[in-house]
Order: sequence, then structure tokens, then C-alpha cells
Amino acid sequence: MRITRARALGTCFGVRDAIDAALTPEISSDLTIVGQLVHNPQTVQRLHDAGVKMVSSSDDEITTRNVMITAHGAPASLKQKLSDQGHIVYDATCPLVLRVHQAVRRLVKEGWHPVVIGQREHVEVRGIVGDLTDFTVLGNLADLHLLEGRARIGIVCQTTYRIRQAKEILEQIGQRFPEMEVEFIDTVCKPTKDRQNAVDELSDQVDVMIVVGGTNSSNTHKLLNVCKEKEVTAYQIENAEQLEARWFEGVEHVGITAGTSTPHDVIDLIHARLIQISPSS
Ligand code: SF4
Repeated sequence: MRITRARALGTCFGVRDAIDAALTPEISSDLTIVGQLVHNPQTVQRLHDAGVKMVSSSDDEITTRNVMITAHGAPASLKQKLSDQGHIVYDATCPLVLRVHQAVRRLVKEGWHPVVIGQREHVEVRGIVGDLTDFTVLGNLADLHLLEGRARIGIVCQTTYRIRQAKEILEQIGQRFPEMEVEFIDTVCKPTKDRQNAVDELSDQVDVMIVVGGTNSSNTHKLLNVCKEKEVTAYQIENAEQLEARWFEGVEHVGITAGTSTPHDVIDLIHARLIQISPSS
């Protein structure tokens, strides 16, 4: 059985830098992370082992001096609140998420109604709109009615959104609201695009795709969706133990892809396990 890794997969620089910062001993010994730093159970365990505390929201009790904002970012008001409470705030927001915050600030300043294409409840989107009073989040085409009555809209995307779907939404906006003035800023990040394009290409070549990533990882779901659209059998797993030999009976070529939270050592273990259980070995 041939095994091919997608040409772009696994941890992106934004997540890697945030993990490195959280594991710096002088910070980690007295640190609480607000939200999920990564959607990868092995890395979460490493952080626990290093003594790092994690809370799901800033409303939870924080007993450490250091507090970290994750790569997904947070509203400026939340960082200020934590700082006012006496914490030292380590901001691990990915520069590519900060770019979205900046884009939205510019749009608002220029008088555009800010629109985010993304998942309303995702922490990144909540961070982008958290300090805005008037904004619209479009999760999919069914939300277009939310734009009724708007004259000028400025659109950004959640960094892990599928650019193809975002462009579909954009096209539908043009058809449904021909009079509306629209400014679109493509803020889907390059690591996301690279991973989506790579899995798209690899799906044409393989019989089965292994998608590695946390079950609550947005960008991993997007990779899985690409496989579904390509009608390739795909299995999402978080670790090598979850691989089942029966998935590969009669399979000649298997592909591996992984979301931006998945470290390369986890991918290596999965690759090694695939070689072990390969029907031809
Ligand atoms: S997925 Fe993109 S925006 Fe998010 S942390 Fe990685 S590089 Fe940054």
C-alpha cells in the first residue's frame, strides 16, 4: 500500500509559536490559557504536564499571574480586562488573525458595515467582532437575509474558512443585492489555503484519506469536507491508536493530511503505524 502525505499539512507557524511560548518555563510555571490553545489532545496533555492551567473563558476563576490569549485571538477589551485584573497578558494571537482585526478596524473607520464570513460561535470570530456594536456574521448562504437593507458592506473571512465557499457567498451577495457596495478582503490564511489545496490535489490520487486533527478543530473539518466533496473515503483520527486495519483492506494508495493544530510528531507516528498495518507488509 502506498502512503502519501499531503504536500502541506500539520501545525502552522501561528499554532507552533503559541505552543512554544506557553511551554517557556518562566511563563508556563504560573500560566493560565484562556480558551483552547490547540485542538490537539497530545499537546494539551504536554501543557498540563508542564503545569499550565486552562480555562474555557475569562469568566472562569484565574489564579495565576500569567494569562495567555490563544492564537485565535481575543477582543482588545478582554486583554484590557485581564490586564486590569493584575495579570501579565501574553498575547499569542497569530499575526494573520491580527491582520483580520486590523482589516475590520479599517473597514469600520471607512464607513463599511463589517461582515465576517465564518462560524458565529468560533472563538476567532468572537474575537474579531467582540468589540463591535454593529456587525454581521455569515455562516453560510442561508444567512444572506441578514444583509437586507445594508448599502455598503466590508467583508473579511475567518482565517480557516474555505476560500471557495467564501467566494460562493460573495457571488450570491452580488446576485441578490446588485445595488450593494461591497469591499472584500480575503483573510483566509496561507497555511489554511495550502492545506486545503494540498488535500484537494491528493484526493484525486488516493483511495482513502486519513485526516488527522481534533474533533473540535474547524480547519480539520474543512479538510474532511474537501475529501467528502471529492468523494474520497476519509477517516478523521487524533492519534495512531485509532487507525483500524480493516479500513485499508483492498486499498492501494492512502493519503495523510492534518489540521493546523496537529504536531508533526503525531503525523510521524500515524505514518509509521500505517506502514505497520499496511495490507502488503
Ligand atoms: S491557521 Fe492560520 S491564522 Fe490560524 S494560527 Fe495558523 S497560520 Fe495563524
